[in-house]
This record gives sequence, structure tokens and C-alpha cells, in this order.
Amino acid sequence: MKNSTISIPSPSLKGVLNIEPITEKPITIMNWSYWEKTTFIGKPDVVIIGSGIVGLSTAIELKTAQPSLRVMILERGVLPYGASTRNAGFACYGSMSELMEDLEKHPHKDVFALVERRWKGLVRLRKRLGDNNLKYEPFGGYEVFTAEDKNLFESCLSNVDDFNKTLESITGLQNVYQNATDKISSFGLGNVQHMIENSGEGQIDTGSMMQSLIAFAKNLNIEILNGIQVSSIKTENNSVKILSDNCDTIEAHRVIITTNGFAKQFLPSYEVEPARAQVLVTEAITGLQLKGSFHYDHGYYYFRNIGNRILFGGARI
Ligand SMILES: Cc1cc2nc3c(=O)[nH]c(=O)nc-3n(C[C@H](O)[C@H](O)[C@H](O)COP(=O)(O)OP(=O)(O)OC[C@H]3O[C@@H](n4cnc5c(N)ncnc54)[C@H](O)[C@@H]3O)c2cc1C
Repeated sequence: MKNSTISIPSPSLKGVLNIEPITEKPITIMNWSYWEKTTFIGKPDVVIIGSGIVGLSTAIELKTAQPSLRVMILERGVLPYGASTRNAGFACYGSMSELMEDLEKHPHKDVFALVERRWKGLVRLRKRLGDNNLKYEPFGGYEVFTAEDKNLFESCLSNVDDFNKTLESITGLQNVYQNATDKISSFGLGNVQHMIENSGEGQIDTGSMMQSLIAFAKNLNIEILNGIQVSSIKTENNSVKILSDNCDTIEAHRVIITTNGFAKQFLPSYEVEPARAQVLVTEAITGLQLKGSFHYDHGYYYFRNIGNRILFGGARI
């Protein structure tokens, strides 16, 4: 075992709580034993950093394409500790006003190529894990508009036919977007004047999805080591050294970074920054009528039912 130290400020509560101040706390850097090194660690063909949906799916794709590869995932958290276990569980590919806003900034083919990738990703995830494991509910998606959003609603409505043609070529579903203003009262929505339904959308149980994805990966002999906070990567000849804050170096033939907003730590030229986003879940609500995934204001705000609770979220970057 190797010890290094970090300084922790002395607590000012001495005397109040009768706690002796701790000024230095040793961090234990775990050195692999001979047995650990030869069995658990070795030199994997591929190390993936981050066990979110992208890291796990990358590992699964690699292992499916080439079963003889030794693939290891390193994750800083005891569980995956990123967006994949903390999101809203919308199985969605874009509300109308969100896509219309995207069309103002990007060419039509790029916007719908992204929609197609989202759709195909959902189809693949559902096929891979099964709807029972995802707890997939095909309740549909709805974009809501208040009285102040009348112009936005009318603009969306004027694009419904065009969008439906494009969406049919992607999803095979007909008339995906429809005016659903007549359904507002059935959901008990107070301040909503208009609504557009997206019949291709659903919702999943995010925790269940990730738990099943981990089980799927482990079934393919993908190794997942939790509690390893990778600090840097060094390439040497034809191999990679992966250094961490709390463990001995791990050597691999290749490394893949799937740390989402934290990718810049290893790839400084990438223009990505971590951003904070949150969802809130209410207590159970007796007699809740709301059922489905709801979008507001170009997708910046969203809410859904989880059984008889409501999840609220906001921010889109
Ligand atoms: C609040 C919120 C709501 C969302 N709602 C939806 C939704 O309803 N539908 C939808 O499709 N998408 C939604 N998203 C987006 C979706 O969750 C993300 O796009 C997706 O989870 C990203 O997956 P990922 O694997 O790239 O990243 P993450 O899940 O963030 O995984 C990155 C992993 O890397 C690990 N890691 C980071 N740094 C290190 C390191 N140095 N060493 C080791 N491990 C490290 C982290 O602990 C984490 O587990 C939402 C996102 C947020 C934040």
C-alpha cells in the first residue's frame, strides 16, 4: 500500500461537538497484489472509461462484434454516476418546436439525420433489453402550449404534414404528430390551450434500463470495475497507461473515453463542459390523470408521470 495525503480544513466545531480536528486524511492508493494484477487487471484489449449508457453500449457493441476481445469498463462511482441513472426516462426523439428551432440553425438533412439516429437507438435498445426490462410504456408524447404560445402552436401545426412525411420515412409510423387539443382535459392540465401529440414517443424506467444494460454487459463477460476515478491517460508505443486517483496504473491496448461532459479532462481540444441539470419527482398524487411525456417551450421544460407521481425537468443545451 502506498499512502499520500490531502489537507482537509480544520472543523471549527471543536468544543461544540467535542470532535478533535482532523487536519490530514490519508488517501490509500491501492497497489494491485500479484494475484489481482494477473487475474482481475492484466492488460485488457480495450478499457472504456465511464459506465453510462454510452460506455456500456460501446462495450456491448465491441464484444458482440469481436467476442474474443477483453473489454473492461472503469467507473468512478459505486454505481454509474452520471446522466444515465439521473435522467427523465423520456424515450423521445424531438418535439415539433424543438426540431423547428434546430432547423433554424442546422440544415434539414442534419436535423432529421439526428432524429433518425435517436429513433434507431431507441429501437436497438428496446430490441436488446426488451420492453419489460426497460419498463417501456407507450403512452405517447405531448407538446403543450399556453395562450401566449398561440403563434408557436400555429406554426407547429402548419408543419405537421411535412414533419409526418419525413417521420414516416424514418419510423414507418403514419401521422406521428397530430393536433391533440381535445385531449387536454383528460390529463387534468390547467393552463394549457393547445397540445400536439407525438404517438411514437414512450417512457422508460431509467434505473431498470441501466440495471438491465449492466447485466447484459456482464453476461457478455465485459468486466466493470467500480470506484476507479481515472485521472490521466498516457500513450506509450502501442499501449495506454491509465492512471487513477485511488488505484495503481492499469495498462491496456486501447482506451475509449465515454465520460460525457467530463471528456475534456482527457481530450482537452474538445469543446465540452459539464453542465448541471436536474429532475424533481413529487410524492404520489391521488387521482393523478396525467399520463405520458410532456414537452414545453422547444423542449426546454418537460414533465411526465411515473405511476402516480410527476417528474419535472428543465434545461436543454
Ligand atoms: C437531468 C437530465 C435529464 C435527461 N433526460 C433524458 C431523457 O428523458 N431522455 C433521454 O434520452 N436523455 C435524457 N438525458 C440525456 C441522457 O441522460 C444522456 O445523454 C446520457 O445518459 C449520456 O450518457 P453517457 O454514457 O454519455 O454519460 P453519463 O451517463 O454521464 O456517463 C458518464 C460516466 O462516466 C463516469 N466518469 C466520469 N468521469 C470519470 C472518471 N474520471 N473516471 C471514471 N469514470 C468517470 C461517470 O461517473 C458516469 O457514470 C437527460 C440528461 C439529464 C442530465
